[in-house]
Amino acid sequence: MPTDTNVDLSEIAKFEKLASRWWDPNSEFKPLHDINPLRAGWIDEHAGVAGKSVVDIGCGGGLLCEALAHRGASVTGIDMGEAPLAVARLHQLESGVEVDYLQSTAESLAAERPGAFSVVTCLEMLEHVPDPSAVIQACADLCEPGGDLFFSTINRNPKSFLFAIVGAEYVLNMLPRGTHEYEKLIKPSELARWIREAGLHKQEMMGMTYNPLTKRYRLTPKDVSVNYLIRATKP
Ligand code: SAH
Repeated sequence: MPTDTNVDLSEIAKFEKLASRWWDPNSEFKPLHDINPLRAGWIDEHAGVAGKSVVDIGCGGGLLCEALAHRGASVTGIDMGEAPLAVARLHQLESGVEVDYLQSTAESLAAERPGAFSVVTCLEMLEHVPDPSAVIQACADLCEPGGDLFFSTINRNPKSFLFAIVGAEYVLNMLPRGTHEYEKLIKPSELARWIREAGLHKQEMMGMTYNPLTKRYRLTPKDVSVNYLIRATKP
């Protein structure tokens, strides 16, 4: 299918392999568990998700989907990995929320359901696809006019190489080696350009910083040198 070509199967395989541990807060997914309340809160603060239709692109095991569903959103989660989706579907039975999980790319869902969602989220996924700009265009297409979009990824510079790859994968062993490839990391200027080219308006950028001593993350607009989020709107 031509709309499904923007998928790197070796990237999908990385997450298939780890999927059974997705909801274990002490597993390889600990960083996602740690940042989840922060990012869900930030998204809700700006988009007010209660009662709104949300699509989460590259949802994995469903951490963000569930957090937004708990806040009253009607959530669709899509991913190309089968095992992460299976885990997500099982976990929602345990937590009692209802999320609609589909195996799809952003591009093919956008062709089927353009403008169907008030809020589009795509977090920690763009650095795993061959052409992130096409995913951003699909996110723009999925969003209704006046809707809100949220993207997050990892910056590309010597500090992010040291913290996100050497530190997280080789020193602290927080993530499996090879989780992130330096060349695929994305500078805020690149993400901002793709957002603009998709006809969206960039509203705000927020850094997510990790303190290895306190082992805590926090949101700060002052430091986007490693992990960061961008909020955009569709005119
Ligand atoms: N967004 C989630 C998971 C991030 S991990 C979170 O932040 O909690 C990245 C996820 O993107 C994985 O589950 C992987 O299977 C998925 N993914 C990678 N490439 C994809 C693609 N082209 N289309 C859909 N999902 C993809």
